[in-house]
Amino acid sequence: MTTKTVLVSGASVAGPSAAYWLHHYGYSVTVVEAAPALRPGGQAVDFRGEQVKLAAAMGLLDDLRAHETALGDQVQLDPAGQPAFTLPSGFTNGELEVLRGDLARILYDHTKDYTEYVFGDRVTSLTETADGVDVTFRHGAPRRFDLVVGADGVHSGVRTAAFGPESRFRTGLGFHVAGFTAPNHLGLDHSGLLYNEPGRGLMIASHRDPATVTVGLFFRGDPDGYGRPDLDRQKDILTDVFAGAGWAVPRLMTAVADAPDLYFDTVSQIKLDSWSRGRVVLLGDAAWCAGPGGSGTGLAMMGAQVLAGELAAAGGDHVTAFARYEQRLRKPARVGQRNGAGSADFLVPATAETLRKRNRMYRRLTGPIGRRVWQYLGNRAANSVKFREYPRSRVNVLP
Ligand SMILES: Cc1cc2nc3c(=O)[nH]c(=O)nc-3n(C[C@H](O)[C@H](O)[C@H](O)COP(=O)(O)OP(=O)(O)OC[C@H]3O[C@@H](n4cnc5c(N)ncnc54)[C@H](O)[C@@H]3O)c2cc1C
Repeated sequence: MTTKTVLVSGASVAGPSAAYWLHHYGYSVTVVEAAPALRPGGQAVDFRGEQVKLAAAMGLLDDLRAHETALGDQVQLDPAGQPAFTLPSGFTNGELEVLRGDLARILYDHTKDYTEYVFGDRVTSLTETADGVDVTFRHGAPRRFDLVVGADGVHSGVRTAAFGPESRFRTGLGFHVAGFTAPNHLGLDHSGLLYNEPGRGLMIASHRDPATVTVGLFFRGDPDGYGRPDLDRQKDILTDVFAGAGWAVPRLMTAVADAPDLYFDTVSQIKLDSWSRGRVVLLGDAAWCAGPGGSGTGLAMMGAQVLAGELAAAGGDHVTAFARYEQRLRKPARVGQRNGAGSADFLVPATAETLRKRNRMYRRLTGPIGRRVWQYLGNRAANSVKFREYPRSRVNVLP
């Protein structure tokens, strides 16, 4: 008897979640990650409702709680550095919030004993045969797998190899995002500050480590203007874009040069007519990236469970399983993309007038009634895929 094998590309959130659930249903999993090691960094991600049930079923809750950000209020400052409104604790951070880098580490730690992780390599070609997929890698020797999962994010290499160039599927939302860890010069204590000028802005938050803050930078610009810049160019772009900004921005920007974990990307959505081609299937941002506010992390984790569960339910028949997986995830992914589409107007209003309007709207939203509406919308998005256990079976073992 031979266990079926799956290659998963990407070791952030979707990839290790897929490793967990595929192993749970009897598959042997290899994860290939382009970066030389797990990537640290990223902003906070939150769990609510069904997503908490999913994390509990994966045995992650204790570790997640131990890494909780416990973020309090976040104060939005206007261009003069004065408070414009306050996002109260719980407004954006759901039932349980952790940093993306901590989540990736926890998922990796929970799966590494039974998963073959290969760092510093990537898929270069995929050739489907009658009974598998022949895969070549930039560095490693060619191998054959029964199935391939592309969980390698918005710039997915698996998607390019199996579906075609990124330009066919990616739409920029008109702004760019960067994130890094910086010294806590402002003395924040489990609290956050948001600051905007027309066309650019940032959010700073203090989480578990009192010595540091996470910084998220946002700025408007041509969706494709920067291409895929290397690290030095990313730092130059950020320095140029935030030159002359007010408030505490100049001091914060001095930390960019030494940032240990700089993340930089054009904010985009990914849309495809189908998420699978034969034995190759996409998961998470590679398939349905929505942008900020689009439940990307929760949906990637839920999608991993649905994908593996449908494979088990279909007795390993990937054609049936991939179709059912897509049926369950399509609508939630659309809702996420609808929410993400408006993120530029919240995070980085373009003009002084739209900035004032945004601030007025959020003053209302953070009042007692607005807050309930906001919570309802957040919970509805998080609960759009119900957690459902699939029966475990031995069907993934080939005779
Ligand atoms: C370092 C980092 C920081 C982030 N910060 C933020 C943030 O601040 N705000 C936000 O909204 N979202 C951020 N994201 C995106 C967020 O993690 C995802 O939207 C969400 O969690 C869904 O995760 P995913 O696993 O589908 O994709 P991602 O988290 O994007 O992970 C994709 C993984 O695949 C790897 N990869 C890429 N190409 C290849 C390839 N060709 N072969 C093998 N591996 C490849 C990447 O290195 C990465 O580890 C960040 C992602 C990363 C990797």
